[in-house]
Amino acid sequence: MFNNKTAIVTGAAKGIGYGIALALAKGGANIVMGDFDQATNEASAVEIEKLTGSKCVAVQCDVSLKGDIDLLIKSAIDNFGALDILVNNAGIFPFKPFMELTEGDWDKVLDVNLKSVFLCSQAAAKVMKDGAKIVSISSIASFVGFEGLTHYCASKGGINGMTRALALELAPKKINVNAVAPGSISTPGSSGVTDEQVKQFNEMIPWKRMGLPEDIANAVVYLASPGADYVTGQIIVVDGGWTLR
Ligand code: NAP
Repeated sequence: MFNNKTAIVTGAAKGIGYGIALALAKGGANIVMGDFDQATNEASAVEIEKLTGSKCVAVQCDVSLKGDIDLLIKSAIDNFGALDILVNNAGIFPFKPFMELTEGDWDKVLDVNLKSVFLCSQAAAKVMKDGAKIVSISSIASFVGFEGLTHYCASKGGINGMTRALALELAPKKINVNAVAPGSISTPGSSGVTDEQVKQFNEMIPWKRMGLPEDIANAVVYLASPGADYVTGQIIVVDGGWTLR
């Protein structure tokens, strides 16, 4: 499905990003994996190459820094000659009560989760051609409130608004812009969740289990595929039904 296509996935060293990179590589895409954690990123790139036979390049980057993003995009062009798919996945979710939040806490979450989507999408759109796809990873926290995550909820709500506006701006270039909003997904980032919390989450989820990275990757694969050519500006919720009630 993605033969001769090149995809950048941010935060691809582990968790949901790894699952997305693996799924796109299984579909035949060349992958550029951008992540902070370069040791894991390189090991993951080698693993995905072995599992799929697709080419993977690991690039160390901080998605909140424009200089790093410019190098990430350049790496796709230098290695593979084009950029067809951008997945804005890297994100952080540090729990902290609102009354204890510092300006620094706020800026950090907004920079990594939202400013990064601006920086990556703008740099990518400059080199993308007709039929290219941008998919961002939002969250159900953009639709419902979570105590201790006001900054995070704001950042993910920002992604949804930006997705709709950018979809309009990039429609003349025939670039699709969409987002996936995961529910509770089992990843290294969510490993601080206690067994008791997992039990509580499962009570809330009609599907009665936490999601897996591949549940999110399947939605991203669809949005990145030619089958989604007429879909733009949408936020697809993948949460086992959590937000239905
Ligand atoms: P994860 O397991 O923590 O993995 C995220 C990866 O991104 C890590 O390798 C991390 O590196 C990297 N990263 C963090 N900050 C970065 C930066 N500034 N620049 C580049 N890379 C950076 O997270 P996840 O659970 O897979 O979450 C992935 C995305 O899904 C996030 O946007 C998150 O908000 C969203 N999401 C997750 C859930 C969930 O339940 N897991 C639910 C809804 C939405 P380090 O480990 O070195 O920090």
